[in-house]
Amino acid sequence: MSAWEAVIGVETHVELGTASKMFCGCPADTTAEPNTNVCPVCLGLPGALPVPNERAIEMTVAVGLALGCRIAADSEFSRKNYFYADLPKNYQISQFDLPLCLEGSLDVEVGEQTVAVGITRVHLEEDTGKSTHLGETGRIHEADAALIDFNRCGVPLMEVVTEPDMRTPEQARAYADELRAIVLALGVSDARLEEGSLRFDANVSVRPAGAEGLGVKVEVKNMNSLRSLQRALAHEIERQTALAEAGEPIAQETRHWDEAAGVTKPGRSKEQSSDYRYFPEPDLVPLHVGDEQRDRIAASLPELPAARRARYRGMGLDAGTARLVAEGDGLDEVFEEAAAAGADPQAAATWLTGEVVAHLRRTDARLGATPLDGAALAALLAMIDGGEVSATAAKAVLAGVLDGEGSPREVAEARDLMQIGDAGALEAAVDEALAAHPDEAGRLRDGDMKLIGFFVGRVMQATGGKADPRMVSDLIRGKATG
Ligand code: ADP
Ligand code: ZN
Ligand code: MG
Repeated sequence: MSAWEAVIGVETHVELGTASKMFCGCPADTTAEPNTNVCPVCLGLPGALPVPNERAIEMTVAVGLALGCRIAADSEFSRKNYFYADLPKNYQISQFDLPLCLEGSLDVEVGEQTVAVGITRVHLEEDTGKSTHLGETGRIHEADAALIDFNRCGVPLMEVVTEPDMRTPEQARAYADELRAIVLALGVSDARLEEGSLRFDANVSVRPAGAEGLGVKVEVKNMNSLRSLQRALAHEIERQTALAEAGEPIAQETRHWDEAAGVTKPGRSKEQSSDYRYFPEPDLVPLHVGDEQRDRIAASLPELPAARRARYRGMGLDAGTARLVAEGDGLDEVFEEAAAAGADPQAAATWLTGEVVAHLRRTDARLGATPLDGAALAALLAMIDGGEVSATAAKAVLAGVLDGEGSPREVAEARDLMQIGDAGALEAAVDEALAAHPDEAGRLRDGDMKLIGFFVGRVMQATGGKADPRMVSDLIRGKATG
């Protein structure tokens, strides 16, 4: 056992998928032509007044409930004061000491182990604008000029803060993955890491293994995939452990993950919350969420990812497949339809997570945009079971269905992939093969059963691979012994 252990807490920003911004009616669309979705409120012009977005509040309450939080009946928006070029008001409306959701917990599975990660709080704030630094490297200190797009300014941003309950980079990654799955299941964000709609900041410190207190923490930013979150933490833990072992101090600071170099680099030294001079937002009344509203949101929560995985395992899926199918992107829906249509769940899931996903990757398509539904998948599996298509031909049939060529049967017929399962036709083909090879046929009748394979091969050749090899083999055996 190492003499040092890591302590990790994660802060996650989630851009909510509301139609309009947090405090004004501008579209919350960050992909529009720069600076077209702006108004006096989100540009911070004097005298403009904010109005909270009810949908964003409900989405945040839903996430809080999914994370087992207590929903504060009375919470409050506060001003977080700081200057930055992409923040035209010179303050961000956020929540400080009275957040909307508190004291939750999320069970995270890492291999065979389950870790309960405490959720400190879930609160609501607004996003800032987006700066682009012009210059060869795109870095601020090497830039010739900066461009600012205020379209993102005021987009609702939910922040989920954990307790320092994680001990390994794998646990932090699994937490991030589970939170992402919940956000997607609730439909509150598209949760795309590459596009910044989900952003993770990882706080990490080291301490002597088994110690009670907490070490000095470093906040690591700028990871845009779950893999880089894990890599950044592993690197940072290694760096801090080396310092600790050498008896060197660890500076409390923010560090940036450099994906290409595989290292964290120092950023600004971290502000204390007192530097922000938080005070209650004077332009907004306190936020009230009544029991009735909270209960209505609780009643409308969909099945959560952990429950869904457990249900799929109950249908016979192994843990890995259950996770892949439950992750969604439409797999879950097609899987459930196929099972309801009588398909064997594990077979349906295996085809979905194997051939279907591979074909979607090859063609850069999304499942929802293809005509494959559960009924079609179940029909294809029934054709395999009934010996109407071989497992190999079924892959081609599936590709045809995904490409919009028709139902499995239509594709199999059009592409001439149906197996000949008609006993009469097969028997004729077997008789022809026996007649064409009288010597081998004689030896077969004398009991040389090795020749069954030879004749199966001849019949498969004669039928262009479309005969059902099992039936052919049975027929030939019958001829040999009968
Ligand atoms: P700050 O005031 O710097 O924002 P917080 O106390 O609000 O710090 O904590 C921010 C995040 O850092 C939380 O997720 C928390 O669990 C985590 N954290 C706090 N202290 C430590 C520590 N010593 N080591 C690792 N993570 C920590
Ligand atoms: Zn606006
Ligand atoms: Mg904090």
